[in-house]
Amino acid sequence: MEQDERGKGHRLFLMASPLQGHMTPLLHLADILFSKGFSITIVHTVFNSPNPSSYPHLDFHAIPDGLSQAEASTLDAVKLTDLLNARCRQPLKDFLAGERVPCFISDASLHFTQPVCHELKLPRLVLRTGSPSSTLVFASFPLLRQKGYLPVQESRLEEPVPDLPPLKVKDLPEFPSQDPEAFYKLVCRFVEEFKASSGIIWNTFEELESSALTKLHQDLSVPMYPIGPFHKHCLTGSTSSTTLLTPDKSCMSWLDTQERRSVVYVSFGSIAAISEAEFLEIAWGLANSNQPFLWVIRPGLIRGSEWLEPLPDGFLESLGGRGYIVKWAPQEQVLSHPAVGAFWTHNGWNSTLESICEGVPMICMPCFADQKVNAKYASDVWKIGVQLENKLERVEVERTIKKLMVADEGNEIRENALNLKEKASVCLRQGGSSYSFLDSLVSDILSLES
Ligand code: UDP
Repeated sequence: MEQDERGKGHRLFLMASPLQGHMTPLLHLADILFSKGFSITIVHTVFNSPNPSSYPHLDFHAIPDGLSQAEASTLDAVKLTDLLNARCRQPLKDFLAGERVPCFISDASLHFTQPVCHELKLPRLVLRTGSPSSTLVFASFPLLRQKGYLPVQESRLEEPVPDLPPLKVKDLPEFPSQDPEAFYKLVCRFVEEFKASSGIIWNTFEELESSALTKLHQDLSVPMYPIGPFHKHCLTGSTSSTTLLTPDKSCMSWLDTQERRSVVYVSFGSIAAISEAEFLEIAWGLANSNQPFLWVIRPGLIRGSEWLEPLPDGFLESLGGRGYIVKWAPQEQVLSHPAVGAFWTHNGWNSTLESICEGVPMICMPCFADQKVNAKYASDVWKIGVQLENKLERVEVERTIKKLMVADEGNEIRENALNLKEKASVCLRQGGSSYSFLDSLVSDILSLES
C-alpha cells in the first residue's frame, strides 16, 4: 500500500492531560500522526509524565505544573484539572513562544491552551477523548440547568430528558467533586473554548455517532474529525503499553486455559472507587454466577483499603481456579482474547470503545461523569450491553451475568456487538469514514501553517 507521509518536515506539539483515560488516546493520536510523517513532541505535565523510553520515535517536553505532592495526590480529577489550567499557562506560553509549527493539539480539558494559542496566533486543534454523544450532553449543560434538570434531583431520576433522547435524568453526568459547582464550570468552559478552535479530533467513528457529530457540528461551527478507533489504526510507532501502570500479563495464560466466550472480564478503569460493601457484593455475585472471571482490582479501587484485605480468607481458593485477580491488566489484549465473553465495565469512553472494537458485550455499571451517557448508549441505542439496574447486590450481579452469558436474551446483544465490531474495522480501511477523515485532518493541518 502506498505510504502517506505528507507530514514529513513538519513538527506537531500535542499536549496531554495526565489522567490515564486522556493520556492513552493522546499517545495513540501521536502515533497516528507520526505514521503520516509528522515529527511529534508530546508536551506533558511533570505529574504522571509518560516514560519517553517507551516511545523512542516521539520527543517529550515537560511543563512545570507547580503541583505540590498533596495536590498531585488528590483523587478529585476536576480539582486537579482546574489546578493544571491555572498553573501551566505561563510555562506553556514561554515554551511555545517563537516556535513555528502548523498548529497545537491539546486535550479538551486543558482549556487554558486556547487563550495561550490565541495570544501566540497559533491555531489550536482539540482532542476530545470522550464520545460525541456525551459531549453533546456537556454542551447542553446551561440549557439543562435552565430547565431544572441539573443539578440532578433524586425525585426526578426516572424522568426522560426531552432534548436528549433516550436519556433520563439519572443518566446525566455528575462528578463527585469536593466542589459540586467545579465540574459544571469546567465542562462549560471547555465546551466554550471548542468554538474558538480550528477543529475537534474524536476517538470515535462516524457510523457509531453520526447524529451527535452532526448536532455538534451545527452548534459549534468547527470541523469535526472522527478518526477512531485510534488504537486500531495500523501504526508504525510504539508497540509498548500506553498505560501508566504496568499490566500483569500473567492473566493471558490463565485466559488460555478457559473456554471460549466464558469469562467475565471486570474492570472499572483508573479512577472510579467503590466502598468495601460494594466490593463484597461484586465478589459474591461473581462467585455465585458460576462463570469464570478476570477481575482488575487496582490498588485504591476499594475506598479505605490498600488492596485485597476485605476479601474473605480463602475466597479465590474456594473457587478452584475459576477466578483470577490482577492489579492492572493488558486490557486491549484481554478484550481480544477468545475466552472473554463479557466486559463488566464502568463505561469510561476508552473501555467502551475497546469493547466495541472486539465485539465484547458489556455489563454496564457507570460511576460518574460521561460514563452514564456511554452506558445508556451501550444498552439502549447500540444494544450491545445490559445495565446493572437497581442496587449493587450479589443477587442482582448474578442475575445480570446470567442474563447476558446464559439466557437467550444475550444472543441478540452478542450479535449486535459483533456487527458493530465489523463497522469499527471497516471504517479504518481505505475509503472508510475514519480513513477519509484522517486524510482531511492531515490536509487541514498542513493548510494551517502560514
Ligand atoms: N486499562 C488497562 N488495564 C486495566 C484497566 C484499564 O490497560 O486493568 C486501560 C483501558 O484499556 C483504557 C484505560 O485504561 O484504555 C481506561 O480509560 P477509560 O476511559 O475506560 O476509563 P478511566 O480510567 O478514564 O475512568
